[in-house]
Amino acid sequence: VRLSEVGEFGLIARLAEALGVPTDPRLLQGIGDDAAVWRNPADRLMVATTDTLVEGVHFDLSTTDWRDLGWKALAENVSDIAAMGCAPRYALVSLALPSEARVEDADALYAGLRACAEAYECAIVGGDTVRCPQVVLNVTVLGESLPLRNDADVPLLLRSAARVGDALAVTGPLGGSGAGLRVLVEAPQVTELTRQLIEVHRRPLPRVRAGQALVAAGCRCGMDISDGLVADVGHIVERSRLSAEIHADLVPVHPAARAVFGDAALDLALTAGEDYELVCAGPPEVLAAASAELAAIGEPPITIIGSIIAVEGERPAVRVLAPDGAPRTIRTGGYAHFAAGDSP
Ligand SMILES: [Mg+2]
Repeated sequence: VRLSEVGEFGLIARLAEALGVPTDPRLLQGIGDDAAVWRNPADRLMVATTDTLVEGVHFDLSTTDWRDLGWKALAENVSDIAAMGCAPRYALVSLALPSEARVEDADALYAGLRACAEAYECAIVGGDTVRCPQVVLNVTVLGESLPLRNDADVPLLLRSAARVGDALAVTGPLGGSGAGLRVLVEAPQVTELTRQLIEVHRRPLPRVRAGQALVAAGCRCGMDISDGLVADVGHIVERSRLSAEIHADLVPVHPAARAVFGDAALDLALTAGEDYELVCAGPPEVLAAASAELAAIGEPPITIIGSIIAVEGERPAVRVLAPDGAPRTIRTGGYAHFAAGDSP
């Protein structure tokens, strides 16, 4: 069935049906009126994030299917909420589709959105659909912090909150998503390991509980790893006006990436993006307390990979100490979203 046959209202009714009725008791009105309505707790901070994915720029339907695209589009936003030490609550989804698009593809996309929404207890409460020559997906997620303990309390993970002497740590293995993408592009033979890596790439698992455990333990600096470890630590040192040192041999490399790509897996762990683990900075005893909390609920431990240091020279930098001890200073600034030749 083509989109042109069901029309916009037909599509909206179908997609709302696909999402089901959220069970959140605080939600007074989801999809179906002019705006969504919910009751907001007074003792929490609200956070919001949004992300737009354009076909051919941010995703490629030759390396992902519609269902996984739906999961990942929501998961990327949930990860930004986790990166603040918060929990996702409500999401809005806007979808632009060409008239000749298949309605079944939109169904699959929304099935993926729903699966992720249910996994992270985030209700999809509204959105929009439009016709457009290209597929474009925009997701907005609203989330909330842990309860405030007093007026001065800011229970969040911020990029700007690193201090000299903090340990730098990550919440899980890195390089799995980059390795999964490499498998998809290079198409080596399919094995149990390559299947696992593709799954990691297509269905990331944002670390909401890890973010909350870090905040509860007293950590105040962190972000999610979307651009790649070194680039994202670069964002922390830029915002904190400090530098960082990463010991490459301490970085937890995804075991399947190591098994398939050998030594090249370390580079994927350092620079490939989309792992959606968290990188954080805080006193070692605070990170140890958060790690123990996570172990108690069956989540991966937190691994210390380096430290926050004062700026040496003119500007913040991330220094990676290779396993042989040789330093490699990597320019901060992260992934170039507007590469040379693109007009901004
Ligand atoms: Mg982020």
